[in-house]
Amino acid sequence: EQTDFVAFFHHVIDRFEMNVTEEITLKRELPDTEYTVWMDRDKMFQVLDNVISNAIKYSPEGGTIRFKAMKQQGRLLVSVTDEGMGIPREKVDKIFDRFYRADKARSRKLGGTGLGLAIAREIIEAHDGTIKAKSKEGKGTTVLFTLPLMTTKRRGN
Ligand code: ATP
Ligand code: MG
Repeated sequence: EQTDFVAFFHHVIDRFEMNVTEEITLKRELPDTEYTVWMDRDKMFQVLDNVISNAIKYSPEGGTIRFKAMKQQGRLLVSVTDEGMGIPREKVDKIFDRFYRADKARSRKLGGTGLGLAIAREIIEAHDGTIKAKSKEGKGTTVLFTLPLMTTKRRGN
């Protein structure tokens, strides 16, 4: 369906805000702009659900998670940044592989199957998008994805 991505993003973050009990701050750095994309909303919810769940799962107490959306080179660029333990440089591209889990012991304790990001990549690629991660060990991780943009409109007022 044709969807205003920023409104959709707010809606997904709202749901996390209601449920987050840990000492984690969710910070929206979202523009007052309508970015229309063609997407399957249920599938895109799955992508954001996993990326945001990961950010929360791997965040320290007191950490902040930042959400951004912007236009870049004619496409929509979306990012979720956490202040967690990060991922070693040589492993950062592997996190999108099926069943890959970076730190076995730690990941096992935190739970999960290692499928979340592999599914997210499949969904994003099915939407003609790209997804990647940038990370600094001990500093945090940013997951970024792009989607084709249909139209852009500054919200009226
Ligand atoms: P599932 O999503 O299936 O419940 P999972 O969260 O372990 O399990 P993925 O979401 O695919 O699996 O992530 C793969 C691995 O990448 C994780 O196990 C973790 O090691 C690493 N990872 C993902 N996101 C982050 C993050 N924000 N910070 C640090 N490590 C991460
Ligand atoms: Mg996950």
